[in-house]
Amino acid sequence: MNLNRSLSRLVSSQTLALNQKAKALAASGRKIYNFTAGEPDGNTPDHVQSAAIHAIQSGKNRYTDTAGIIELREAICRKAKNIYHRTYSTDEVIVSSGGKQAIFNALYTLLNPEDEVVILTPAWVSYPSLVQMLGANVVEVSSTIEQGFVPDVSAIASAITDKTKLLILNSPCNPSGAVYTQAFVNELVDLLEKHPNVFVISDDIYEYYVFEGEFVTLSKHPKFPKERLIIINGVSKSHAMTGWRIGYALADQRIVSPMKKIQSQVTSNPCSISQYAALEAIKTEDEKPNPFKESFKQRRDIAFTELSECADLRVILPQGAFYIFPNVEKVISKSNLQTDVELCDFLLDTCGVATVPGSAFGLPGHLRLSYGLPIEELRKGISLMKEGLSKLEKKA
Ligand code: GLU
Repeated sequence: MNLNRSLSRLVSSQTLALNQKAKALAASGRKIYNFTAGEPDGNTPDHVQSAAIHAIQSGKNRYTDTAGIIELREAICRKAKNIYHRTYSTDEVIVSSGGKQAIFNALYTLLNPEDEVVILTPAWVSYPSLVQMLGANVVEVSSTIEQGFVPDVSAIASAITDKTKLLILNSPCNPSGAVYTQAFVNELVDLLEKHPNVFVISDDIYEYYVFEGEFVTLSKHPKFPKERLIIINGVSKSHAMTGWRIGYALADQRIVSPMKKIQSQVTSNPCSISQYAALEAIKTEDEKPNPFKESFKQRRDIAFTELSECADLRVILPQGAFYIFPNVEKVISKSNLQTDVELCDFLLDTCGVATVPGSAFGLPGHLRLSYGLPIEELRKGISLMKEGLSKLEKKA
C-alpha cells in the first residue's frame, strides 16, 4: 500500500507495547510480574475522583478552550511561581492530552526538517521517535552507569552544532532514575549561554519523585531565559492519573500560540472531565501532598538491595522517578544471548518477569524495571528474575 514513507522509520512505543504484552499474558492466565508499566500502581486520590464526578454531573461535557479551562491554567501558573519561581500568564500555558501531546506540540512548533535535537541517553522512548516523525535528526549524548547516567557537560558541548535547535532534559530521568545535580545544571546553563539559538525542553514530569535532596531542574535556573524554555509537567505520575491524559507545557507566548493552533486542529482540547480532576489535584497539592512517594522510596530500596545481591548485575541507587536500570552486560556476555532484547524475552517467557530492554531507551545492555508493584510481588518477581539469570545457559 502506498502509505506515508516515513512510517518505515516509525516504531511503536516499546514501553506501551511491552506493558500490553505483559497484560495480555496475565489475562491468558499466566502469573506475570509486570515491571514494564511506567505508572504509579495506586488509585487516583479520592478528592480528585470526586471532582471528576462533580464535573460529569454538573454538565462539563462541552468543548473547553483549546488551551484548557482557565481555572486550571491559573492553578498551573500559580504552581509554576511556587516551584520554578517563574511568572507565566494564562496565555503561556497549554494543557494537553498527556505530557506526550504537550511535547509533540512543542516539537512541531520548534523543528524544521534537518534540525538537530540533542537527547541525553538513556532517554524516554518517545523523544527520538517524535523528533524523527517531524523529519528532524536526533543527536544522542550517551552516559554510562559509572557516570550515574548523566553525561559530562563537555560531551553535550561537543554534540552542539550550527544545526542544533533543541536540547531535551529529563530529571528525574526515565529510565535511569538519575537526578541532575545543581552543579550539572549550572554548567549546562553556562554552556547554553554560548548557544543562544538552542531551545530547551525540560520534562519535569517526575518532579514529585525525588528521594534524596531537592528537585533540581534547569526550569528553576534564574539565568536561563524563558524565551528558550519549554517546561513539561502533568498529573499522570504525581496523582496516579496516567489514564486521564492530562499534561501541560509552560513557555513564552510566541511558542504557546502555535502549540494552541496545532492542538486546535488535532484534538480540540484535552478531556473536559480530566481537566476538572487535574484542577483539583494541582489546587490541593500543598495541603494533600503526593501519597505515593514514601511507598515508592521503600520499594526503590527493596529493588536496589535485591538486585545488588546478584553479582552479574551492576546497579546504582536511583535518586528519583520509579525506575531502576541495572546493567546486564555481564549476564549477556556469559550466556548464549546476544542482546538485552533477547534477555527480556527470556525473562518473560521463562520466569514470567516483564521488563523493558535498555536498547529501547538508547542504551543497550540494561533493563528497566518500574518497581511500583506490591512489595510481596516486587520481591518475588526479582527473586524469580535472579533465579532465571542463574539458570541461563552458559556461552558455548
Ligand atoms: N512514560 C511511561 C513509561 O515510560 C508510560 C508509557 C509511555 O508513554 O512510554 O513507561
